[in-house]
Amino acid sequence: MKEKLIVVCGAGGFIGGFLVADLLKQGHTHIRAVDIKPLERWYQRFEGVENLASLDLKELPACRRSMQDAYWVYNLAADMGGMGFIENNKALCMLSVLINTHLLQAAREAGVNRLFYSSSACVYNHDMQTDPGVTGLKEADAYPGMPEDGYGWEKLFSERMCRHFTEDFGLITRVARYHNVYGPLGTYDGGREKAPAAISRKVIEAKLSGKHEIEIWGSGEQTRSFMYIDDCIKGTQDIMRAQTITFPINLGSAEKVTINQLVDLVEDIAGIKLKRNYNLNAPKGVNGRNSENTLIRKMLDWEPSILLRTGMEKTYAWIYDQIKSGKSKDSAVNKS
Ligand code: NAD
Repeated sequence: MKEKLIVVCGAGGFIGGFLVADLLKQGHTHIRAVDIKPLERWYQRFEGVENLASLDLKELPACRRSMQDAYWVYNLAADMGGMGFIENNKALCMLSVLINTHLLQAAREAGVNRLFYSSSACVYNHDMQTDPGVTGLKEADAYPGMPEDGYGWEKLFSERMCRHFTEDFGLITRVARYHNVYGPLGTYDGGREKAPAAISRKVIEAKLSGKHEIEIWGSGEQTRSFMYIDDCIKGTQDIMRAQTITFPINLGSAEKVTINQLVDLVEDIAGIKLKRNYNLNAPKGVNGRNSENTLIRKMLDWEPSILLRTGMEKTYAWIYDQIKSGKSKDSAVNKS
């Protein structure tokens, strides 16, 4: 298995970069990393990997090139970001449907053994997420379909595309529904960042500028759970390897917090208290979302368990160093 070609699509991004790093650490010798971004903008890049940069996987020929001789494929490529991005770029989010569609077609033609698709908690029915006290979204809660407009619909459709490629053409697929993934080497500014990175950046900026205020999107009472990147990378590969996970499955932390509690935590890490200004007109997403992990515990005898405090300390420290050193985020996170 270590000599077979593994392809990571979206390898220039946050999760893809960590996945390539982990595959290398395990001793895989044939890895192909693909991304639409030019190589210098990849968050992590590695020698000894076949890096295919500036390749637009919305195009079928690019997918065919990427799938040549591939054994296992991880599709992490998508045009996405935090709530601020997905609420304002619904068409762009939905165009990612071309990536997974063409990848599945090309994977089938190339005789790929197995394809992983990174879906999202945004597939869950909106009506089940109106209460901040939500106990957790179980896999069946994706139907009847009423997902996040734009981004969530694309994810739900692409999940089904995987299912039908398996049923009709025998291409083995695996689908994980990620719940908010965070960690160092991710996006923390520019509009695509998610809550843990955005709040860290705002707290750091307040600390460094001496202006002890923070803007919070929504009332701060909306609930979420956040999965540290190491749990995501382990879970992704365990789901890919599992013989019996033939359906979309949650991959997320079940440690639910309000956004206000996340701000409390970051303030505590930073050793500061800020005046909170609530922007009720900003994109805030659903009122309550958490991962229900009964199924993954049953299938893998494991669930994401890295505490939010532990992960946020590492994330905060990394973002602090980036901002303090004045490095641009793109050049700062690249490795050779
Ligand atoms: P990311 O934006 O950091 O990485 C995605 C990568 O895909 C980027 O490097 C981007 O350049 C690349 N890409 C976009 N369009 C492409 C195209 N047409 N051709 C080739 N590459 C293209 O995002 P991430 O956080 O690493 O997320 C990875 C996957 O996990 C995505 O599918 C995302 O929807 C899913 N997901 C992530 C989260 C999260 O919290 N990070 C939550 C749920 C689902």
